[in-house]
Amino acid sequence: MIIFKDHTALKKHLFRLKTEGKLGFVPTMGALHAGHLQLIRTAKEENTAVVSSIFVNPAQFNDPRDFQKYPITLEQDIRLLEREKCDVLFLPEVSEIYPDGYSQLEHYNLGTLDTMLEGSSRPGHFQGVCQVVNRLLDMVKPHLLYLGQKDYQQCMVIQRLMNLTGKSVALRICPTQREESGLAMSSRNMRLTPAAREKASAIFQLLMYAKSQIQLGDLSGLQQYGTQFLSQQGFKPDYVSFANAGSLELRENWDGEESLVMLIAAFMEEVRLIDNMIIT
Ligand code: AMP
Repeated sequence: MIIFKDHTALKKHLFRLKTEGKLGFVPTMGALHAGHLQLIRTAKEENTAVVSSIFVNPAQFNDPRDFQKYPITLEQDIRLLEREKCDVLFLPEVSEIYPDGYSQLEHYNLGTLDTMLEGSSRPGHFQGVCQVVNRLLDMVKPHLLYLGQKDYQQCMVIQRLMNLTGKSVALRICPTQREESGLAMSSRNMRLTPAAREKASAIFQLLMYAKSQIQLGDLSGLQQYGTQFLSQQGFKPDYVSFANAGSLELRENWDGEESLVMLIAAFMEEVRLIDNMIIT
């Protein structure tokens, strides 16, 4: 695996790689786990070469404490990427991505995606995601981009970003990898105590319960039940919502035909966890 910190050298190398075939890109913030590695593996299967990036993007953290506490395990990450035979790792400094600092950053018209669910709880978060992803895509110019379903709203935001900026990159959304308990893998899980990590699987239990119990008509009972259940399990729930799986328009009723996604965000020991499940 070749590691680049400088985007000019990276571009030169990738230009040559792209003449040989397809290039897949897996952007990450590091502290890699099996969810990230599954994206690398899928990208390896579908491309001649795979680039990953590790960059903890300051612009997408609305809570500075969350940024400061974000886990960094770089040496282990490099070992894991090498084991997966990732071809290239881009490891930029902040000044490489934001040479002019954070003033006069682009603003993207994301519509309601910017202000609902994650956007409502984390103001400015998706603008920050778009700022970094757009810059990374301009540097890497991959054929395919690999994202995880765990960050459902983020996948939609990035698809919209690519439409807005006219990028012809194909988006692959890969299934959420889970711990044995059902808890969605996340770099933030490292910040949970073992007891809290065990309790945190209640989010998955709730998603499974809702999938099996959902009925035609009003969804508010299920939503209320979910919020109560999470509180009883020691969470501070942020939202328990249903939305159209394609447009992410929020739904309070179900007609039995529409494909829905149930989305949950909740704090456990000050760690914000998110998860979702498609319900058909
Ligand atoms: P992050 O490092 O958290 O920014 O995540 C980098 C990429 O990995 C994003 O596309 C995430 O959606 C994806 N990802 C994170 N956790 C998981 C998971 N448990 N399963 C699948 N993909 C994931």
